[in-house]
Amino acid sequence: MTEDKLRDYERKRDTDSSGEPSAGGRKTSRGTRTSFVVQRHDASSLHFDLRLEIDGVLVSWAVPKGPSLNPSDKRLAHRTEDHPLDYVDFEGRIGEGYGAGTVVVWDTGTFDNLTEEDGEEVALAQALDHGHLKVELHGEKLSGGFALTHTRMGGDEANWLLVKVDDDGADRRRRPTSTQNESVLSGHINEDFEGDEG
Ligand code: MN
Repeated sequence: MTEDKLRDYERKRDTDSSGEPSAGGRKTSRGTRTSFVVQRHDASSLHFDLRLEIDGVLVSWAVPKGPSLNPSDKRLAHRTEDHPLDYVDFEGRIGEGYGAGTVVVWDTGTFDNLTEEDGEEVALAQALDHGHLKVELHGEKLSGGFALTHTRMGGDEANWLLVKVDDDGADRRRRPTSTQNESVLSGHINEDFEGDEG
């Protein structure tokens, strides 16, 4: 099951040369709570990759402008291939090929599923299928509810929207994506990895 989900991940890259985690690595969760990560990926264009642990893989979206704490901001989130759980703490330089560039763990932590339909909790896999997820992130830069909605904007099946829920974690003035570039794990910024071997 997990192997099937990671087939696109393996097809798109050679992890021996890219330096990224292999698809055959850790298959179990970090602990009893599910993890999320937002990676700042300075590739052909700068973007932020939001990944949520769902049923043994990191379900992933590339968010060009990154997550916002302002509930008025609607951020395009482009669904990309599922990533292995080991990717949750990956940072460094990706060599030539798919995704070439530098990656830092911009934020990470655990999350809770808040998705409901008709007052009933909906499992994350089902919420994905239904095209609407609500999660509560417990990170350092991001906290509180975020809604992901499958909009298919412009006729693109991969297009979702990421919007901050208006709660205690919301902040209309602070923009962490432009003022806090450093990794929450290592303190590094993307540029620190530019000279590394891929
Ligand atoms: Mn990326």
